[in-house]
Amino acid sequence: MSGQAPAKKPEISIVLPVYNERDNLSELIKELHSVIQGLKYNTEIVLVNDGSNDGSLGEMQRLRDMYRDLNIRIICLDKNHGLTAALAAGFEWARGDWVVSLDADLQNDPADIPKLLSKLGEYDVVIGCRMKRQDNFVRRVSSRIANSVRNRATRETVTDVGCTLKAYKQEYLAKLRLYNGLHRFLPTLLKLEGARVAEVQVNHRLRLHGKSKYNISNRLWAGINDLFAVRWMQKRQIKYTSKEL
Ligand code: UDP
Ligand code: MG
Repeated sequence: MSGQAPAKKPEISIVLPVYNERDNLSELIKELHSVIQGLKYNTEIVLVNDGSNDGSLGEMQRLRDMYRDLNIRIICLDKNHGLTAALAAGFEWARGDWVVSLDADLQNDPADIPKLLSKLGEYDVVIGCRMKRQDNFVRRVSSRIANSVRNRATRETVTDVGCTLKAYKQEYLAKLRLYNGLHRFLPTLLKLEGARVAEVQVNHRLRLHGKSKYNISNRLWAGINDLFAVRWMQKRQIKYTSKEL
């Protein structure tokens, strides 16, 4: 996909990782449309197709033609690479000064976007914290444990690191080098780059179509190795000032 980017540089890019979300996309774009109309910013939507095989790509193309005023761009990964890669690709292609990420399955609520953006003047990164998780009991408990283990190991206080709904100043994203799994540590990695990070409470909704791609075995334990890597980065961070004489 190339040559589809709107000529005018957007102020805001909305990045959506998509892996087999065909039946969610139309409602998602409809909801984003009404939120964007109220924003009064020049906005683009970056749909990242992470190797979907359920017809999501065709649906994205249909919606791009249907909502021409939304500046929908479609970025395709060569195959399914996972959420970190999909987000990294979206961040790479996003051209806005401010970037918002959210899940494409409608569990995050586009109506929360203005709330996050309103804090981006004061902060560099604003992260959503899902107050009433609409996931099953096992998922809620495992994610609570994972958050607490992660926080303890990395001396953090992030309530809900698994919430994709986040807003960032692009200059901080540009400093990141993401590795598989590190989407779970984005607030910590961004703080290492000097970002001021705030949390805001956001809505969470039931998944109505398609399936969750994560479960207890690929979510909870996968993060344990990553913990050591992130802790290592924190300890070995190089902090210096320098000047040319
Ligand atoms: N996703 C992706 N690549 C993957 C797995 C997930 O782009 O390999 C996307 C997915 O389409 C959704 C978001 O990441 O937009 C979150 O995935 P999911 O809803 O399965 O996670 P959960 O909400 O269950 O934690
Ligand atoms: Mg989901």
